Amino acid sequence: MRIDILTLFPKMFNGFLSESIMGKAINNKLVEINLIDFREFSTNKHKKVDDSPYGGGAGMVLSVQPVYDALISIKGYKEALKILVTPQGDRFNQTRAYNLKDEAHIIILCGHYEGYDERIRDLFDIEISIGDYVLTGGEIAAMVLIDAITRVIPNVISNDESHLFDSFNGNLLEHPHYTRPSEFMGKSVPDVLISGNHKLIKEWRLKQSIKRTKERRIDLYHKYKEENGDE
Ligand code: SAM
Repeated sequence: MRIDILTLFPKMFNGFLSESIMGKAINNKLVEINLIDFREFSTNKHKKVDDSPYGGGAGMVLSVQPVYDALISIKGYKEALKILVTPQGDRFNQTRAYNLKDEAHIIILCGHYEGYDERIRDLFDIEISIGDYVLTGGEIAAMVLIDAITRVIPNVISNDESHLFDSFNGNLLEHPHYTRPSEFMGKSVPDVLISGNHKLIKEWRLKQSIKRTKERRIDLYHKYKEENGDE
């Protein structure tokens, strides 16, 4: 998969793209990421990319010209899935991450300032929000999308199936985990996990997942029950 990111702050991605699982996925050529500073495409002599809003009001608006010119400079941009990140978009979730992992080429525009000139929206296929809060810019939102999509691309995480048991798969939160020591400050690991009985462990984990989902995310729990019948 190739992902092109249109941003005014490419340096914000340095650590994100070089460390840990993202860094490895890029080194192993499982995902290719390109950063495009669209300020370089501004035809304004001062390389301005924003302007005051028609009709007045607070804040500056991202201009359409630099975004358009940067976008059409990308090879294959017509066929790529073009995503605009905005708090006004469809909410991102795990299902979307799974669906987006099958795209061959994604382009993401990171906004800034008060918002986009409305004509920028026409250049993009979908709008995605990462949650009901307002960030200063789209870079962190783009990182959230890229991280969640990349980790479900085959061969990116070492135990390739482990993401299938993560929270949200099958509308459940994940079960609790324990590791050594078996006892810490009087708190012990549940006996079943050291029993070696894999059938019982599986049953315990499912039960715990259901319990945790019911306690913490009643919305998901209802969806789980709809699909699976009663506990
Ligand atoms: N005035 C805009 C509004 O109310 O919709 C918010 C603009 S915000 C300060 C600047 C940029 O940050 C947005 O254009 C978008 O790219 C990004 N952004 C902020 N919150 C976001 C969110 N929840 N999800 C995705 N992108 C977000």
